[in-house]
Amino acid sequence: MDNQFDVIIIGSGPAGLTASIYTSRASLKTLVIAGKTWGGQLMLTTDVENFPGFAEGIQGPELMMNMRRQAERFGVVFVDADADPVDFTNAKSPFLVTADGKSYSGKSILIATGENSKTLGVPGEKELTGRGISYCATCDGAFFRNKKVIVVGGGDSAMEEANFLTNFAEVTLMHRRDSFRASQIMQDRVKSNPKIKILLNSQITEVIGENKVEKVKIQNTVTKEITEEAYDGIFVAIGHVPNSSVFKGITLTENGYIDAHKRVMTNIDGIFVSGDVQDDKYRQGITAAGFGCMAALEVQWWLEGKK
Ligand code: NAP
Repeated sequence: MDNQFDVIIIGSGPAGLTASIYTSRASLKTLVIAGKTWGGQLMLTTDVENFPGFAEGIQGPELMMNMRRQAERFGVVFVDADADPVDFTNAKSPFLVTADGKSYSGKSILIATGENSKTLGVPGEKELTGRGISYCATCDGAFFRNKKVIVVGGGDSAMEEANFLTNFAEVTLMHRRDSFRASQIMQDRVKSNPKIKILLNSQITEVIGENKVEKVKIQNTVTKEITEEAYDGIFVAIGHVPNSSVFKGITLTENGYIDAHKRVMTNIDGIFVSGDVQDDKYRQGITAAGFGCMAALEVQWWLEGKK
């Protein structure tokens, strides 16, 4: 394979793949370093009902497979490996990136490595993710109409998700300490919502279920006593980790997200960013795809300006 590209896109979620469709259709030679587990967070969800264009909904992995096939149709080259850590301090176009023992040169780079939700790390969590365990109330809340769910966390995200989920479900908000970290206004909203039951000093130690969440083991963090209760769903809202740490020389925000100016540009000329690795607010497949499109257009205009 010729290792010289107009743009190297690192990451293969909706941001990276949308960008690759745009750059390849603009006749830019495009490489996607897709990651060992490609496709991003949508690969971990089941029904996606809020991505426009799919009237009956679509499975997350199928949506990502469609995006990938669409990109391949326009000649995008894929490497299914993780990009090695790279130091971009003082870097200039063309940039070098290595993955799986091979080196690639790109006139421009687009970072679209996304973020991961923090997980509880308890038995049963991995197996039942997408089968009752969710990391996104906006995405999955509607599947829990008239069901009994726990929201885990004590920050603003947990407050927001708990409130939102009362539109559908019977909600218990569980936090490991006796006071919340969330802003006062968000706490007040939760505390004044009669549909939310608050369970403090508590943590999940195991999730039990055959093919879906059935029961949860809950430990009182003070007395250490463990009880078991039936629930249909668990929404984990204990924070996110942007996948930004492998890039040195790229300015980050205080929360570790890539600091973007003009929405999709990093501090290094010719290195662009899109999707959840720079967005700690919206975090939707469709917003990531939109950012991917914007970044691809900026890449295209930046390369034209270099001619
Ligand atoms: P966060 O503020 O970091 O809160 C994470 C919460 O999860 C904390 O209460 C933490 O407990 C708990 N936690 C962490 N690891 C845990 C574990 N392994 N098991 C059980 N609990 C665990 O994260 P966030 O709520 O996602 O918010 C991130 C940022 O976005 C914040 O700056 C927030 O203000 C902002 N945000 C704002 C809004 C809004 O204003 N509408 C909405 C969402 C988010 P401890 O408290 O004990 O550490």
